[in-house]
Amino acid sequence: MTYKLVCFDMDGVLFEGNNFWLRLHKALGTYEEGKELTEKYLKTDYAKLVKEVVGRLWKGKNADPYFDLVASTEYIFGVKDTFSELKKRGIKTVIISSGPKHLVERARDELGVDYVFSNNLMVSNGIITGEFDWPIGFGSKAKFLKEVCDKENVLLSEVVSVGDNDNDVEKAKLVGFSIAFNSGSDELRSVCDVEIKKKDLREILPYLS
Ligand SMILES: [Mg+2]
Repeated sequence: MTYKLVCFDMDGVLFEGNNFWLRLHKALGTYEEGKELTEKYLKTDYAKLVKEVVGRLWKGKNADPYFDLVASTEYIFGVKDTFSELKKRGIKTVIISSGPKHLVERARDELGVDYVFSNNLMVSNGIITGEFDWPIGFGSKAKFLKEVCDKENVLLSEVVSVGDNDNDVEKAKLVGFSIAFNSGSDELRSVCDVEIKKKDLREILPYLS
């Protein structure tokens, strides 16, 4: 099979740290409550989670810690080599992440990613406004992948998906080949074709030739 497109999750696959928003809770001093709310609502009521976290806990806070975190988050080992190799092979790339727009755009610009989809924590005059644009809730990544496939004239069977958690299960089931990368999710590992345990993204390349 010749694969034409690779669909990446962001946190834990391209960047260190498996949940940007929980790290932001730490940076903004809202971790305890943030963790509790995330455990309670992430999979059951994303709108409520957004309202409680962004609309209440973070609204009005200085956004500097957010931008600092975006700038300082480190790539997983091998990411840059992997993207330049995919480009060489003519394979298109997409990131679909429930993480922040600014970090996804940093990856897009630094790695030359073809398509990116993410959520957006709104900031105005350096202040977190309390609004959150969230096209990617829990379990809504697949429709964006299908959109890209249509645009690129690629079949889902020609797509490889690389993810690390429960939110990547849906698209892992849809694509031609799925990889669980450094995953702590039993559910994801059980639906994926292979599991990569070594924390080096270049490990995906042998499956793409
Ligand atoms: Mg992840």
